[in-house]
Amino acid sequence: MTSARTYLDYNASAPLRPEARAAVIASLDQFGNASSVHVEGQRARALIDDAREAVARLVNAKPAEVVFTSGATEANTWALSGPWKAIALAGIEHDSVRAPAAQIAASRGASVIDVPVSADGIADYKAAKLIPGTLLALQLANNETGVLQDVTKAALWALENGVHIHTDAVQAPGRIAIDFCTLGATTMSLSAHKIGGPKGVGALVISGSTPLPPLFAGGGQEGRRRAGTENVAAIAGFGAAARAALTDLEDASRLTALRDTLEREVLRATPGAVVIGAGAPRLPNTSSIALPGISAETLVIKLDLMGLAVSAGAACSSGKVGQSHVLSAMGLPPEIAGSAIRVSLGPGSTEKDIAAFIAAWKRIHGGASLAA
Ligand code: PMP
Repeated sequence: MTSARTYLDYNASAPLRPEARAAVIASLDQFGNASSVHVEGQRARALIDDAREAVARLVNAKPAEVVFTSGATEANTWALSGPWKAIALAGIEHDSVRAPAAQIAASRGASVIDVPVSADGIADYKAAKLIPGTLLALQLANNETGVLQDVTKAALWALENGVHIHTDAVQAPGRIAIDFCTLGATTMSLSAHKIGGPKGVGALVISGSTPLPPLFAGGGQEGRRRAGTENVAAIAGFGAAARAALTDLEDASRLTALRDTLEREVLRATPGAVVIGAGAPRLPNTSSIALPGISAETLVIKLDLMGLAVSAGAACSSGKVGQSHVLSAMGLPPEIAGSAIRVSLGPGSTEKDIAAFIAAWKRIHGGASLAA
């Protein structure tokens, strides 16, 4: 990234932290297979154990509860593939939850239960009439809007109703405190690249002795829970990023202030703009802003040409932009959903970045006259 660029897309992927880069590079020379008993193997094993401890500490889980995966997509699929009678989820869940839920349920003849969502993006699981043995997928924080679900409260209710909770916590670490021990979720997914680690590595945190059959058959790695030779370098990078992210929470009030300035200035410049999910508890770093009249796709391209990286609310893996299923699930009309962009901040974000965004926004939406 050149210094001329303003990166405001941390929810898509965070820049690699120097600590993570150093850990990845150093571990590439530990060529042993972590399952081997010899010294070379045990050196690789030590890197994995160390990373497991760091990831566990970030979310206050026990190291034994952390199983490394190829990312949160795998972790979500794995959690959903347990022996559940039904899978319940709201339309705000990430595609890596929605798609496997439909696939897994169809392959087993189990049902998928739709959980209604309020206009502010809060899932109303109580309205869904869940039967015992259901897995409720309830994300901790939404990747498009930053809206938070009260998973702790949901887990208390779930316990009384024989329901298990899987929480996709990918967007939460370092931004809000996570305490897996008291959260009450059965499983929780994490992804390294959202906290400044490398891509292609994540974890499923599995509470206690939850019986979750492995997704892959094969070797006995990860305590017989996830077959396949471990990606030691990526895992070591994840561990280093997790250790560094432990102090990110100290930066949360600074990020909230930057985010609030951005929203205030946008609303001042263009009073017709809407901040989506503003009435709900949100991550400190995420802003979903819509201004009907200009499509999100056009806005993202214009901003990119001006040196700023943001996402359309509906950014998807193909790089194309469609209607955001998250915003649609919140019942937002197409002119709002279709014009929403996501601005997401991180540890490297500064007042200068916010000023650059405001200046670009004003230029795109009609110049300084609008700011009067
Ligand atoms: N869940 C959420 C909320 C996400 O934002 C993402 C990444 N876009 C994922 C899951 C998938 O994570 P990964 O890239 O590690 O597969």
